[in-house]
Amino acid sequence: MSRAPQLSVVMPIYNEQEALPLTVGRLRPILDGLGVDYEVVGVDDGSTDATPVLMQKIRQDWPEFRIIRFSRNSGHQAALKAGLHRAFGDYVVSIDADLQDPPEKIPEMLALAREENLDIVYGVRGDRGTDSSFKRRTAGAYYWLMRKLVGKRMPNQAGDYRLLSRAAVDALKALPEHQPVYRLLVPWLGFPSGEVVYVREERVAGATHYPLTKMVRLALDSITNFSAAPLRLATWLGMLSFLVCIGLAIYTTVAYAMGSTVPGWSSLFIGMLFIGAVQLCCVGMLGEYVGRIYSAVQARPAYFVGYDSAEDEREGKSR
Ligand code: UDP
Ligand code: MG
Repeated sequence: MSRAPQLSVVMPIYNEQEALPLTVGRLRPILDGLGVDYEVVGVDDGSTDATPVLMQKIRQDWPEFRIIRFSRNSGHQAALKAGLHRAFGDYVVSIDADLQDPPEKIPEMLALAREENLDIVYGVRGDRGTDSSFKRRTAGAYYWLMRKLVGKRMPNQAGDYRLLSRAAVDALKALPEHQPVYRLLVPWLGFPSGEVVYVREERVAGATHYPLTKMVRLALDSITNFSAAPLRLATWLGMLSFLVCIGLAIYTTVAYAMGSTVPGWSSLFIGMLFIGAVQLCCVGMLGEYVGRIYSAVQARPAYFVGYDSAEDEREGKSR
């Protein structure tokens, strides 16, 4: 394989022993039929099932299938980062390993990018009918909020299935982010872009690795990566509670002057709880940023690569 293929396909893979063989079965004929030099960069995100063995087997009869293995699970975005940073291709497509992003769209993306000289082609989900209604609703809220943060540049319902040119990949690589959220950073680049609509299919096998906790984390990362708005929200909340306090103070004074004694401690207690809650909210939001400043200062890499089959080749070792 030459050093610089025309196309790299980056695929984060985490415990996908059921889905991976099916994905490879569908992906390979498409890539072989493209008539371009390509590599598939499989990033094994610290799988604990049979996935690593499977990947080695796949590589044995598919030399274009390259393996990068993390020492432990580092998350989908970290796997994407490793794949993008290590891909050699002139164009780089990122795709999920569970066939939710139909690989049949890759030729379309590549053709569109070449014809119109685009740096970014988004895969836009035309229909999420196969996702659960909870996932659809949370995703809807997520994209609404993200469009508010990044602006109209961000296409609605564009996930991590997309094509990037070498220029876009290099621009992303130059960013100092430790925990990049690519679906926000890519539109933020503002490079010429196009869209390919696809139908989000059902996961072909296995179960999702995005439980609610990881979804919340992605949302928090996305917000704090792109905006100081929550900090401003804290200020507004503080002002509001201050106004409420003044109102209450006037009310009690009037009540006192009119001779009706303020009977209980309940109103006081409610006021106290309210102020306490507001303060906690604000401190919590500060914490979100301080925590991220802390990890940025620590400058810990987002992942560690334990193995890269391309490095094997360079050193002339047998596979
Ligand atoms: N993935 C990963 N690391 C993780 C979780 C997921 O590399 O910690 C991969 C997974 O193998 C798949 C892609 O990221 O290729 C998307 O994950 P999943 O399908 O579980 O998420 P969903 O499609 O349900 O949002
Ligand atoms: Mg999936």
